[in-house]
Amino acid sequence: MAEAIRDTFNRPLRDLRISVTDRCNFRCAYCMPAEIFGEHYRFLPKPEILTYEEITRLTGIIVRLGAVKLRITGGEPLVREELETLIAMLRPIDGVDDLTLTTNGYLLPKKAQLLKDAGLNRITVSLDSLDDDVFRRMNGNRSSVQKVLDGIAAAELAGLQPIKINCVVQRGVNDHTIVDLARWAKDKGYILRFIEYMDVGNKNGWRMDEVVPAQEIVDRIDAAMPLTQTRRNYQSEVALRYRYQDGAGEIGVIASVTKPFCGACSRMRLSPEGSLYTCLFATQGTDLRAPLRDGATDDEIEAIIRDTWGSRIDRYSEVRFEQTDEDRAKKVEMYHIGG
Ligand code: SAM
Ligand code: SF4
Ligand code: SF4
Repeated sequence: MAEAIRDTFNRPLRDLRISVTDRCNFRCAYCMPAEIFGEHYRFLPKPEILTYEEITRLTGIIVRLGAVKLRITGGEPLVREELETLIAMLRPIDGVDDLTLTTNGYLLPKKAQLLKDAGLNRITVSLDSLDDDVFRRMNGNRSSVQKVLDGIAAAELAGLQPIKINCVVQRGVNDHTIVDLARWAKDKGYILRFIEYMDVGNKNGWRMDEVVPAQEIVDRIDAAMPLTQTRRNYQSEVALRYRYQDGAGEIGVIASVTKPFCGACSRMRLSPEGSLYTCLFATQGTDLRAPLRDGATDDEIEAIIRDTWGSRIDRYSEVRFEQTDEDRAKKVEMYHIGG
């Protein structure tokens, strides 16, 4: 395996998140609020989006530079046509240990088996509440809970395991339903990850008082079903993990607001139109599409990627509260680079 490239803080490249589209069939208020992303919103036109061949070529180069984990995301990755074709193209890349996908689950009944057959290892499904009213309020009334449960069942049947569930917790919105969600995931044997509501982008009207700190989430679950903290699986793992004391199952909390983990951050992100981002809260990407379409060689593209990672100084979550409003106003949106 290639020696991973390192950034200015000596952090190795390990993960690549590939956002395949900026479109989505949901309108989660914390990500793509319906009042902004309405009928007339201009998403990227198709010619501007990387083809599957272009994504595969760039991924091959990035894997040579050290990435071993690939996660496909979006927008909603399953709204992109024949996503299984991309999975089948990425699967044979030498050096990829883990190929996974984050989805809202809505299209999984149609897609789960095709994705598994194409070589996808496992899947993460986002589900913020089992309470239908709460869930509909959060996703812009685009889906019932049952639709997502059907998707999760399809993934399980197809063998896309272990199944992980992502839940973004917002105070006053779904925090009163987290214990029910935890109990359900525990019974089903799914790994649940609670995510602190983050100030990604500038369109969700984020406020600190809507963040439920990870410790509070853990305390609330622990009071109902006792937990013990466990060690990280690997150094750059972002979730703090807890096992149920009765031996059945675990939860994780992603405390990017209250306990930032930039020191171990090994993630690179590729946007649908071919820009490389080295932080979820980046204000600027490095364009790879122009060189790619202008006929650059693999070595030339590799040099751009090396430079980008080599000069990386990102640690947004650690300096969040030192940022000016002007800095914040330039951040890239979550639906664009995919969390
Ligand atoms: N559409 C897919 C989905 O929802 O799973 C994939 C893309 S979505 C941007 C990736 C993850 O980011 C989801 O689990 C979503 O809940 C999470 N997310 C989006 N906006 C967020 C925010 N403001 N704070 C924390 N997590 C967020
Ligand atoms: Fe769509 Fe995922 Fe964003 Fe919700 S979180 S709007 S499902 S991209
Ligand atoms: Fe990584 Fe940026 Fe998040 Fe820090 S803020 S963990 S550098 S993505």
